[in-house]
Amino acid sequence: MQAIVLLGAPGAGKGTAADGLQEEFGFLHVSTGNMLREAVAGGTSVGHEAEPFMQAGELVPDRIIGHVVEEVLDSHKGGARYMFDGYPRTLTQADMLDACLKSRASELNHVFYLSAPRGILVGRLAGRRICASCGANYHLVNVQPKVGGVCDRCSGELYQRPDDSEETVNTRLNIYEEMTRELADHYEKRSLLQPIDSSRRPEDAIDDITRILRSSEGGGQAVSP
Ligand code: AMP
Repeated sequence: MQAIVLLGAPGAGKGTAADGLQEEFGFLHVSTGNMLREAVAGGTSVGHEAEPFMQAGELVPDRIIGHVVEEVLDSHKGGARYMFDGYPRTLTQADMLDACLKSRASELNHVFYLSAPRGILVGRLAGRRICASCGANYHLVNVQPKVGGVCDRCSGELYQRPDDSEETVNTRLNIYEEMTRELADHYEKRSLLQPIDSSRRPEDAIDDITRILRSSEGGGQAVSP
């Protein structure tokens, strides 16, 4: 059974990579950001607790994150391959993830560390637009929908996430830099870290990750076309 983590700053392309990899490998995509946004939209108690932290661009407490992750894994029992996106974000969460996987007879195989210069990240976040219905990602310049403001996939309305405003973006990137350095060191020491240059086109990052996953699946064999 395989479990991978996509580690990277907001705007590094974790969501886009996750979409591509989910299609290719059938991973269960566990995005704590998406789950929290759904909880906020649904007005649940988790949503109420998490919302002020999210609005400020700060990290939601580990206790709440642990709860949402356990809940989603419990609802997908039986042989799932997990892809964690935006989780873990702290060393405590990294320990929680190990325990979570162990209790499900699984373990972490790779941590893909997507990185790009800060100027690129800010530009991507400021122009990012999301479909309110299906969550598809667009960009005002880089990934334009066929019709302005309308999702190509489901005709849903595109919106800007409130935490993608310039002020909040800077807070999120500062927090990210601090926390991710620790996490990257932690996984580097465990020989799980795979650096991926995500300043390129999203397809290039996805290709790199696919190649690594195929090669580890096939015991080191070359990627088939
Ligand atoms: P994301 O969509 O991953 O950028 O997450 C959006 C916001 O949700 C973050 O800025 C945090 O406030 C919160 N969040 C998402 N995942 C986590 C996590 N693993 N730990 C703490 N806060 C999180």
